[in-house]
Amino acid sequence: MSAESPLSIRASTQLCAVIGNPVLHSLSPAMHNAAFHAAGLDYAYLAFTVSDLAGCLTGMRALEGFQGLSVTIPHKIAILSYLDEIEESALKIGSVNTVVKKDEKLLGTSTDGAGAFRAIENAGVSLKDASVLFAGTGGAARAVAFALCTSGLPRKIMIVGRSAEKVEALTRDLETVSSSVEVLGGSFSENLLAWAEESDLLINATPLGMHGAAEQENSFPGVGLRADQAVFDMVYRPENTVLVQEAKKQGCKIVPGLDMLLYQAVIQFELWTGACAPEEAMRQALNNALRSRE
Ligand code: NAP
Repeated sequence: MSAESPLSIRASTQLCAVIGNPVLHSLSPAMHNAAFHAAGLDYAYLAFTVSDLAGCLTGMRALEGFQGLSVTIPHKIAILSYLDEIEESALKIGSVNTVVKKDEKLLGTSTDGAGAFRAIENAGVSLKDASVLFAGTGGAARAVAFALCTSGLPRKIMIVGRSAEKVEALTRDLETVSSSVEVLGGSFSENLLAWAEESDLLINATPLGMHGAAEQENSFPGVGLRADQAVFDMVYRPENTVLVQEAKKQGCKIVPGLDMLLYQAVIQFELWTGACAPEEAMRQALNNALRSRE
């Protein structure tokens, strides 16, 4: 039987879901249902478009078999006000992408940073004493920058963004995490090129290059890359963004954005079920779901 066979729903089936608005494009149902099936667990995963967040969480509390949530745009920040407990790192990041129901309580956490960390390790990119450049200051940049800073591994973290206030807020927050990591903030238009040159790992945490973006935003600005550098484009649609194509041409190591999506889901699965996630079934389902939309 294929890992993506439909689950059989019974009276005992436990529910997990992704909430967001819009959410119908989400690849998470394909990944998580394949995982539940491969692990032989009596769980199912649905996608709900939610505009009434408070009402949604009241419903989740009332429904006993409702075990977990993935949270996506626009609820990642607003949901903090409705939860019983929030894990410290999610509080620092200021956003939650995962809710776990435990002893009738709703606990919020973020798996984006840990997922990205695993994707970087899996790509064979060493963070030890590395100089890492983030382009972007949004939720994804915050989550991953906090994870990297908390590890204490990089020597330096540089952030470039369009808004000086957002860059300053993120650099200030990161400086409270580790005294051993130097944190520098700068401007996307003025510092990107020079800082990219001195970075060991360049991370695109903007939507630049994303499928469907306006023409002027359909690629990350050209930066001079060398074979001894690594590139992590969080954009995964298309998989081969212009930035990734250029990085491959120069012989750089690549951290696939799709791996971050996979590993943050692997961690969610383990939090909800307590079982070890069937990674290969999830990867296959993710690839199939993505290809079916091309
Ligand atoms: P977000 O909170 O909306 O932040 C987007 C960031 O990109 C902001 O800093 C924004 O700057 C900047 N930006 C937007 N358009 C730009 C442009 N034309 N030029 C320069 N900077 C620009 O979004 P997010 O949740 O952090 O997500 C960022 C990207 O990562 C998205 O493409 C998302 O799909 C991707 N992502 C991937 C994964 C994964 O698993 N691979 C997970 C999460 C996110 P302003 O603040 O000035 O608008």
